Amino acid sequence: MAQEENTTPPKEPNFAVRTIESAAAGSKAIAIGMKTVLKYAGGPRPTREYPDEVRPLAERSRGRLYFIEEKCIACNMCVKACPIDVIDLEFHREEREVDGKVKKVPVIDKYNVDIGECISCGLCAEHCPTDAVYQSTEYETSYYYKELFVMDKDELAMTFPEYIAKKAREMKGK
Ligand code: SF4
Ligand code: SF4
Repeated sequence: MAQEENTTPPKEPNFAVRTIESAAAGSKAIAIGMKTVLKYAGGPRPTREYPDEVRPLAERSRGRLYFIEEKCIACNMCVKACPIDVIDLEFHREEREVDGKVKKVPVIDKYNVDIGECISCGLCAEHCPTDAVYQSTEYETSYYYKELFVMDKDELAMTFPEYIAKKAREMKGK
């Protein structure tokens, strides 16, 4: 004969027992948390009060691009190397006297970089044969207006605060 199935639900602990159990679990969690706090209290702080305290940069940090027009030979290597096409170079050649000889030299009409889009990969600087374009360690280049991130050849020779001050003057003059 088949044994009769026990359908009685298991007995739930009463309210007082549940309260004591939750309080015990809560106290255990607090104790674990406090143990961790006490372990690190008084030790060296892992965080810094940025921007008052700035973390020293790694030797090979790649920051904002700079451009030195006088060094540029308009070889186009940086433009070809850029994986996201944010360098816009235009130039023409002119005859000029160099070391007593008349030579055709490149004249840079435009060298714009959208530093808002730039991914700081460094390929342009790596391919530049004259170091006309290079990566600085400047990284504090955030600003409100996206359109201000397209810097021209003169602006690419300025620090970012200088550039923003110039833009502010230009906007006031409008
Ligand atoms: S750092 Fe990279 S993404 Fe930025 S302009 Fe140079 S090649 Fe282009
Ligand atoms: S690679 Fe250097 S020299 Fe050549 S166009 Fe670019 S910035 Fe000028």
